[in-house]
Amino acid sequence: MTFPSWLSQLCRGLSRPIRRTTQPIWGSLYRSLVQSSQRRNPEFSSFAVRTNTCGELRSSHLGQEVTLCGWIQYRRQNTFLVLRDFHGLVQVVIPQDESAASVRKILCEAPVESVVQVSGTVISRPAGQENPKMPTGEIEIKVKTAELLNACKKLPFEIKDFMKKTEALRLQYRYLDLRSFQMQYNLRLRSQMVMKMREYLCNLHGFVDIETPTLFKRTPGGAKEFLVPSREPGKFYSLPQSPQQFKQLLMVGGLDRYFQVARCYRDEGSRPDRQPEFTQIDIEMSFVDQTGIQSLIEGLLQYSWPNDKDPVVVPFPTVTFTEALATYGTDKPDTRFGMKIIDISDVFRNTEIGFLQDALSKPHGTVKAICIPEGAKYLKRKDIESIRKFAADHFNQEILPVFLNANRNWNSPVASFIMESQRLELIRLMDTQEEDVVLLTAGEHNKACCLLGKLRLECADLLETRGMVLRDPTLFSFLWVVDFPLFLPKEENPRELESAHHPFTAPHPSDIHLLYTEPKKARSQHYDLVLNGNEIGGGSIRIHNAELQRYILATLLKEDVKMLSHLLQALDYGAPPHGGIALGLDRLICLVTGSPSIRDVIAFPKSFRGHDLMSNAPDSIPSEELKPYHIRVSWPTDSKAERAH
Ligand code: ASP
Repeated sequence: MTFPSWLSQLCRGLSRPIRRTTQPIWGSLYRSLVQSSQRRNPEFSSFAVRTNTCGELRSSHLGQEVTLCGWIQYRRQNTFLVLRDFHGLVQVVIPQDESAASVRKILCEAPVESVVQVSGTVISRPAGQENPKMPTGEIEIKVKTAELLNACKKLPFEIKDFMKKTEALRLQYRYLDLRSFQMQYNLRLRSQMVMKMREYLCNLHGFVDIETPTLFKRTPGGAKEFLVPSREPGKFYSLPQSPQQFKQLLMVGGLDRYFQVARCYRDEGSRPDRQPEFTQIDIEMSFVDQTGIQSLIEGLLQYSWPNDKDPVVVPFPTVTFTEALATYGTDKPDTRFGMKIIDISDVFRNTEIGFLQDALSKPHGTVKAICIPEGAKYLKRKDIESIRKFAADHFNQEILPVFLNANRNWNSPVASFIMESQRLELIRLMDTQEEDVVLLTAGEHNKACCLLGKLRLECADLLETRGMVLRDPTLFSFLWVVDFPLFLPKEENPRELESAHHPFTAPHPSDIHLLYTEPKKARSQHYDLVLNGNEIGGGSIRIHNAELQRYILATLLKEDVKMLSHLLQALDYGAPPHGGIALGLDRLICLVTGSPSIRDVIAFPKSFRGHDLMSNAPDSIPSEELKPYHIRVSWPTDSKAERAH
């Protein structure tokens, strides 16, 4: 997409008419809010010294006297200059006559990426010199005056988008990287979507945008939190991992419908494509059930979806957690393609193949498979080898590749033990074609599904790198995953329980009795929203009964309830039934823009190791400055050398 066409699409998005579905309480306030968001194209040059943006000029501006400000993109033979701003590019003719020597000097000598102001007339390009690839390609600027606003030193990298640069360098000079087309597009689209979400939530559905504290106290369970020292000896604030408690307390406070573009903090160490601080569209409402929240979110995404993408189709399909695991081997299935996991245990009840026999003789043993379309054509022998190695190394599982083409030699000696009747039954059950390959594994249900779920994604990537189109790049495949278990075994001690979502999640109404008998089996009212195989949101209906909340925290999760006494107390003062959800804004925008990383949709992200490469945060503090906090650094022995730098 060319520079200005994306911008005009973004602008058109802004002026899309609003459907009024709720009646305002304060009519005029509501009307003025709606009107301000109905404004047509924004005034990009208001309050500025320029008259126009570089990217907006067309033949309709011919003859107009304009003043433009922008960066020098490039210069051609000291005759033309291409000037760039956020809106696009425009060609400026460098005057050649003697009388304009000073203007000529400025425009010819200013280094690329210097910022200049030029005034002149919009003229047509000479016949035959139009550039149809450039939206401003029919015109150029005949300059009368020019001013160098600020010169640019030699750049660490070229701004032009096709120039490849390392991400570390981009992050170090983020302010320069932000000048690129991609970053401009991503941040503007993000702003636009957030604006439309605000409109939808506040103007159309009566949500209240409320800021909640970021200096808070430790919350039991969940992700690790960042600590902030206080001046009271030994006392620390915590940065909240989400505004969960506050939003519930707002419901107790009768705010009824809350929303916030909320900054959240999780100290999870270095994790690829995660950020220690990130943004959620955080939502909570009273007197609602699961389907109410789901419809709200479907409407929100439909309303805020960029106009240049295919419209969002609602309602989104729903699968249960159990179905997702059995069919896709994960709780965040990528439903843009098939290759579903199929249980083929019955085909192999009387097999002679050792590892299948072994698995099926155990109480929960199963045989499962996925079908790789045209795998015989696209997968090489070494791919199959690495698939088998992956299964052995990471899952301690065997994988049997079965080539279904009867004329083909069975690739593995084991496969020759598959009887003709079994082969035919396999073809029928898995609906395979001649060139397909079936990957077969055996073992305990969850383990076999998880492995095949991973292989399903790996093979999809492989097939695509070999040229098969498996996932339509324009497709956005939303999916609700529901009926999660309320608890999972703790990773570090599987005999103890932890919340699958968070401890405030209500149990499924039909499973409440299980909390007192078999809590592991209780399902919850927790729902996740998945887009193209990524979890982009999650939420739940909450517990609003103090006694039940206390029982879950103290008895089942063995948490210290004193830390949550304020919340438990609040639930006892007429807390309304309530529920909510949070959408991960960074991930959502990353998927919408098709960016390779969430760092590409955040203006100033942290590196993979949680550092700000531009300013070098986190930084050391002189011990003097730590004194008021009663803190002393105990240096690990191996970091002495590092400290010396
Ligand atoms: N606070 C939850 C989270 O951050 C979302 C929710 O339950 O609303 O995952």
